[in-house]
Amino acid sequence: MKPAASPFSFPVSPALADKLAKLGLRRDADLVLHLPLRWEDETRLTPIRDLLPGATAQVQATVREANIAYRPRRMLTVTVEDTGGGVLGIRFLNFYPSHVKLFQPGQTFRFIGEVRGGFLGLEMVHPRFAKADDATPLPDQLTPVYPTTAGLGQATLRRCVERALAAPIPDTLPADWLAELGLPDFESSIRLLHRPPLDAAIAELESRRHPAWQRLAFDELLAQQLSLAAARRQRKQQRTRPLPPRAQLTTAFLRSLPFALTRAQTRAWNEISADLGHSHPMRRLLQGDVGSGKTVIAALACLQAIENGMQAAFMAPTEILAEQHYRKLAAPLAALGVKSAWMSGSQRKSERAAAWQAIASGEADLAFGTHALFQENGAFARLGLAIVDEQHRFGVGQRLALIEKGSEPHQLMMSATPIPRTLAMSFFADLDVSTIDELPPGRTPVVTKLVSAARRDDVLARVRAACREGGQAYWVCPLIEESEKLQLQTAEDAYATLAAQLPDLRVGLVHGRMKPDAKQAVMAAFQAHEIDLLVATTVIEVGVDVPNAALMIIEHAERMGLAQLHQLRGRVGRGSRESVCVLLYETPLSELARARLKVIFEHTDGFEIARQDLLLRGPGELLGHRQSGLPMLRFADLERDVHLLEAARDLARRCLASHPDIAAAHIERWIGRREALASI
Ligand code: ADP
Ligand code: MG
Repeated sequence: MKPAASPFSFPVSPALADKLAKLGLRRDADLVLHLPLRWEDETRLTPIRDLLPGATAQVQATVREANIAYRPRRMLTVTVEDTGGGVLGIRFLNFYPSHVKLFQPGQTFRFIGEVRGGFLGLEMVHPRFAKADDATPLPDQLTPVYPTTAGLGQATLRRCVERALAAPIPDTLPADWLAELGLPDFESSIRLLHRPPLDAAIAELESRRHPAWQRLAFDELLAQQLSLAAARRQRKQQRTRPLPPRAQLTTAFLRSLPFALTRAQTRAWNEISADLGHSHPMRRLLQGDVGSGKTVIAALACLQAIENGMQAAFMAPTEILAEQHYRKLAAPLAALGVKSAWMSGSQRKSERAAAWQAIASGEADLAFGTHALFQENGAFARLGLAIVDEQHRFGVGQRLALIEKGSEPHQLMMSATPIPRTLAMSFFADLDVSTIDELPPGRTPVVTKLVSAARRDDVLARVRAACREGGQAYWVCPLIEESEKLQLQTAEDAYATLAAQLPDLRVGLVHGRMKPDAKQAVMAAFQAHEIDLLVATTVIEVGVDVPNAALMIIEHAERMGLAQLHQLRGRVGRGSRESVCVLLYETPLSELARARLKVIFEHTDGFEIARQDLLLRGPGELLGHRQSGLPMLRFADLERDVHLLEAARDLARRCLASHPDIAAAHIERWIGRREALASI
């Protein structure tokens, strides 16, 4: 019978193919890149007498007796003895009747496992084993242990990898490039890692600083750079309507501002303004720390679109933030003759229909809203630019839905969670990046204090004093991720308690479940200083701007992530008052929580905090599943391998420009057809 057609170069049953697919292994090239987690030394037999508890070893021994014992649960115990007279206990907690039959007295096996000092002497629990005798050869290489999935044993996986490795593995990169980079060739690196020779130092191999690992890390980074650069080239070939600077609305707006742009803002604005003038769509990320003044730059970009006769959309992740943008910008822009529309998920149907009507007819120049705005079926008359505030909170899907609203409008994404340089260079390499690395003048740095929750009374006294002196404060409730209902309950409890404890202050409450009108009323009252202390859930995390509020208390700060703490803290320190952020924490602290609090206490620079966050959590977490369109890095570590990242970026440019065939072969090996370029 002919075996079923296999995507591999050797026969694979459908059941096995399914299991391999679970590991992302769909072709020979994937198996070649499926590298061991670790290696075991099965090349030697250790006499039982020389076994040391804690070590992993292989013994060859003969069964003396096997029993099913109940102590307290059912288990199979086998006593074995080797030729040196050493006796070892073997225990199986899970076993089949076939095991019992197998371990007949007099039969000889090899067992590999961790040695433990057991109840009755040395033992191994669930060792790997195979029937053997003195004639059974020992491997002459270290044995790889691969990442695997349920129902797929190491032996099967090893056999598959072995088959895939049978063919020669051509290098994708020319030898002279490798010499220049100081990296070994691909084939020997791969073979070394799958089958290290006996004299390979396992510790060095496992450190991942071994040249063979470095070669793989480099290749992986190069593939990422190449595919992102290719996506970027593709974009540059698309056509869209250019929106060149006309210095009409933009100039008028700049003149109307009560301040001059900072140098960093000016630089970012020049980059964006020039980009908008191109006939290919802009994809630019504007990043700047909380309070660095990104909104003004976004408004200028909208005005440049509008002075070219096009519409702009301004999208924010939360209703509070979208509405704040609308309330802040609509009036000054109206003074320049710009008509704004406001859309929200919770508007009355008739209001929303009217807003869509204004957008579809082209009567509105600028639309503000949450992403709800873009998930409906409404159409823009002539969308030229989309602004996505706090882009890290949007999914790739939403980004794409937005693009489809116009014929490739220009896009400006804004992020107050600074993307560490290495991440920007890797996962965001398809975007152009502008950075505002300077805060407007006159800001006083926020003083951060770590206070144990046991000293809550002192903190209350501090809040009272600050508000008595004419200041305002935020009280941020603990984050309850598991339940929105519990979160609401916590916020209401905190509000009730604080209102009772501080009867002389005007206390307000804002949380995510409130009706938008009610939410807006509270925010307006706080802004107008009709509220002294605002109890809030993390809805105030982004964008809220009340300069008179110079004190913030964050309860259960140990539960929050670094980015979130940094964002929250950015709500204070906006005026000329000395600002303080008190982080209340409950003990005992987990190690991660302690590390996070230390970082937030020691640093105020968002870029440094983001870098530390990357160190603590790794890029997968930082990017979240939101960016799941991007393949994660398996071998490269952005922190450890930053030199490789830089080299990969440079080589990717050269390679695409002069050797597209090499680029294509390299992408094919690493990314294949699985992750089409279109997914980026
Ligand atoms: P973010 O970058 O966090 O979105 P915003 O755009 O909300 O920051 O700006 C924070 C505050 O700083 C706003 O009140 C804004 O009006 C003000 N601002 C922006 N640019 C300047 C500047 N160049 N000089 C003084 N104040 C500025
Ligand atoms: Mg903002």
